Amino acid sequence: MDNFFNHTLKELHAVVEKMGAKSYRARQLSQWVYQRGVLDFHSMDNLPKALRSALADEFCFELPEVNEIVHSEDGSIKFGLLLNTGHLVETVLMPEKGRNTLCVSTQIGCKMACQFCVTGHIGFVRDLSVAEIIGQVMAVKQYAHNRRITNIVFMGMGEPLDNLENLMCALEIVQEAHGLDFSYRRVTVSTVGLLDGLRSIAPRKAQIAISLNASCEAGRSELMPINRIYPLHDIVAYVRSLKNMGRQRVTFEYVLIKGINDSPDDARALAELLAGVRCKINLIPYNASPHAIFQTPDEEAVNRFHSILLDRNFTALVRDSHAKDIGGGCGQLGMKYLEEKG
Ligand code: SAH
Repeated sequence: MDNFFNHTLKELHAVVEKMGAKSYRARQLSQWVYQRGVLDFHSMDNLPKALRSALADEFCFELPEVNEIVHSEDGSIKFGLLLNTGHLVETVLMPEKGRNTLCVSTQIGCKMACQFCVTGHIGFVRDLSVAEIIGQVMAVKQYAHNRRITNIVFMGMGEPLDNLENLMCALEIVQEAHGLDFSYRRVTVSTVGLLDGLRSIAPRKAQIAISLNASCEAGRSELMPINRIYPLHDIVAYVRSLKNMGRQRVTFEYVLIKGINDSPDDARALAELLAGVRCKINLIPYNASPHAIFQTPDEEAVNRFHSILLDRNFTALVRDSHAKDIGGGCGQLGMKYLEEKG
């Protein structure tokens, strides 16, 4: 049976009309499901009975099963969600001052093969469907009903822009005013910089975060093989060319790795590369894992790198990852798959 969570409101409009009902019924339906959390058509008592039955014949509400819940010392919660294909997806809820940010996955594994990322080491397993992406939001929403999710970041397992069609559909669903109603300002897509996909998203479909992780082409190609197809300079040129951004700024992420990209020279080269680009820079000290081939930089090196950027008037933050102690930090998701591989 067709999973309700695969569909945008636009599609639901067409469905209810085909069932002989007025299209505004789709908005009511969306309110029941996404705002009130009612997952039973027969309980939707402001819908005509015939429509309720027709919908129940057409759709099921299938959410991933909450298989494991792990609490971090910093208050974050990692959810191990089991899909109906037996695959496990990890989704992390991160409370921070006045916000509850949910880190959502878009693929199982990843094709990008970034050297520093656990998910990259798994290799690619498969894309998540729209329902599996929305299912992460809904499953956590149902579980953590006393904590409202305020922000969504597509920064979990996988490369969101490599699953573009499903991502676009999911962005539409989470932003639907009669549904989950997230403003695009509260939704971030993090990418290695697949420029074709980025052009479909920027500037107004979501906030953009781009993982740079290096300040020169050779260094980036070494860490992120995708740089051979979408080089650093093309990415920066693209961000420079963005118009109609209003107050919005692109975020550049830079994972600081000891002895690889964390020297003062690297910081100066990064500043030069980004000179005049309206952006924010998030510095993420490398998170190690049992499979790590790199090391976390010393605090001193992180602070030095940070000050070089601040001295040159960049907006730069050191973003210590949440949930590191439970394998839920940046680049740590999917460790179980590697354990199975041995
Ligand atoms: N594929 C997307 C989203 C997933 S990775 C992307 O690359 O942006 C989310 C962020 O975690 C990226 O900025 C990535 O560079 C960072 N990251 C990956 N592995 C990491 C690690 N071991 N330590 C710290 N950050 C890491």
